[in-house]
Amino acid sequence: GISLEEEQTKTDIPVEESTTAPTNKKESEMTEEELRRAKDVEYGIESFKYVIIGGGAAAYHAIDKILENDKNNPTILIISKEYNVPYQRPPLSKNLWASGDNVVEDLEYSDWSGKKQNIFFEPESVYGNEVLNFVRTLKVIDLHVDERLVLLEDGKLIRYEKCLIATGGEPRRLNFSAKNDPNVTTYRTVEDFKNLYNFVGEGNKHITVLGGGFLGSELTCAISQNLGEKKNVKITQVFPESGVLSNVFPDYLSEHATEEIKRSGVQVLNKKLVKDVEKAESGKLVVKTDDGNQWETDHVVVAVGIVPNTNVANSTTLEIDPKNGGYVVNAELQARSNVYVAGDVASYYDFSLNTRRRVEHIDHARATGETAGKNMTGKSEPYTYQPFFWSDLTPGVGFEAVGNTDSKLKTFSVWEKPTDEQKPYNKGVIYYLNDNNVVVGVLCYGNYNKMAAARSLILKKKPVKDLNELQHAISLKEE
Ligand code: FAD
Ligand code: NAD
Repeated sequence: GISLEEEQTKTDIPVEESTTAPTNKKESEMTEEELRRAKDVEYGIESFKYVIIGGGAAAYHAIDKILENDKNNPTILIISKEYNVPYQRPPLSKNLWASGDNVVEDLEYSDWSGKKQNIFFEPESVYGNEVLNFVRTLKVIDLHVDERLVLLEDGKLIRYEKCLIATGGEPRRLNFSAKNDPNVTTYRTVEDFKNLYNFVGEGNKHITVLGGGFLGSELTCAISQNLGEKKNVKITQVFPESGVLSNVFPDYLSEHATEEIKRSGVQVLNKKLVKDVEKAESGKLVVKTDDGNQWETDHVVVAVGIVPNTNVANSTTLEIDPKNGGYVVNAELQARSNVYVAGDVASYYDFSLNTRRRVEHIDHARATGETAGKNMTGKSEPYTYQPFFWSDLTPGVGFEAVGNTDSKLKTFSVWEKPTDEQKPYNKGVIYYLNDNNVVVGVLCYGNYNKMAAARSLILKKKPVKDLNELQHAISLKEE
């Protein structure tokens, strides 16, 4: 079978003992903070009011709120293992593929309204001054809460007053024979986009995408729709489930969406588990599935979920959620005193669903980042927001959703009467109910701007006696 590879690093932070301090005061007369500062000077430890681990969406929004709320000479250090300053990932599997030939250089795309956008939250020039500092391509490998220190992989120690862990997740890898081949890749960063775009742009390629979740399905559709014919690119999407987005869609809708993707020109191989990817003598890759089939391909993209990045705090006791993964935080998004967590890597208590969970979507990264950022400046706001998410695959397959939309729950769907028999699922609402018949999630398919109404419905937490009550709970009319 296929085994998963996970990376773990373990280190001890070298917290050195010092007997002398470069100051006029005697050590015995110094406050704890003064002693700390004196030692930092002696050992060349830089210190910042705010240290942000990770340079993604949660990090960016936290910084935004810190700057808005702390007018008292804040100093911020962002440490990212990526080269690029914070940017948005959603366009990497959508609109960027529809941009012009210069996209790899300008990273611009048109948003839903046709407006030109750039993937970066702020231009590069905003980082690298007295207030906002950015350390690129370096990993934090440890955290020491008692000493308020983070350790970078180059051995440098940084002192913080408040620290945010916003490390997101790492794409899961599969242990194939050719796992180290440059044409067997995962997909999460802008560098991944550039590499794959350039490769596909060479033309006459066969790309195989593993995974039927958000990433595998969006990327497959984006490449196929935008470069399929133009660059003579053939795409095969393979996954073990019976249809795409089957973690979210009820079976009939997953089947429908899969058919739509096939109709758009993609070869979809459902109910097939890839057992291995090997390098052929021809230089191509060979993908082998559990039913004995195999085919040659030029590139394999492995899109089989993420593992939350919880390897930054080995010397510190931070609780990891045994069920959902991620660092456990309280309502104010704190894991320990002065340590906050936001985004994909946070396991938090969802107040409207009465359960602990971890959410891997951008609206949640934004909102938790904002709450953590504010709380780091001295506020103590609970995180009670219900984030939404969305996806767009083919022109007829797109939605917005909120709450718990696990397809294992009972669902009740309301659909607009189709005018075209070919298009049975044009516009609708799917309600997800728990064992007590309470609506815990809502998915609005082809039906936009309904998230506020959906949130109110979830917040009612009222058991539904007769499912017909839901017929008009959320409107199908355009708003
Ligand atoms: P990330 O964005 O993953 O950022 C974490 C950062 O921390 C990274 O820069 C990482 O390199 C860095 N890091 C990790 N460990 C360390 C370390 N030890 N030291 C230093 N730095 C570290 N969501 C939606 O809701 N809608 C969408 O349409 C959508 N589309 C997506 C498309 C793609 C291609 C991808 C990959 C994701 C998409 N998502 C979407 C999900 C969304 O982007 C994530 O939920 C969001 O990026 C999470 O933000 P984050 O800041 O928690 O983590
Ligand atoms: P996912 O969790 O959405 O999907 C995982 C998929 O992996 C499953 O659906 C399954 O098909 C597949 N899988 C698991 N094991 C497999 C195996 N052995 N072989 C083949 N397939 C296997 O994760 P993802 O699609 O990889 O997306 C990565 C991350 O990016 C997630 O956090 C996701 O939420 C996020 N993302 C979100 C959006 C969005 O919100 N619109 C878009 C893209 C990516």
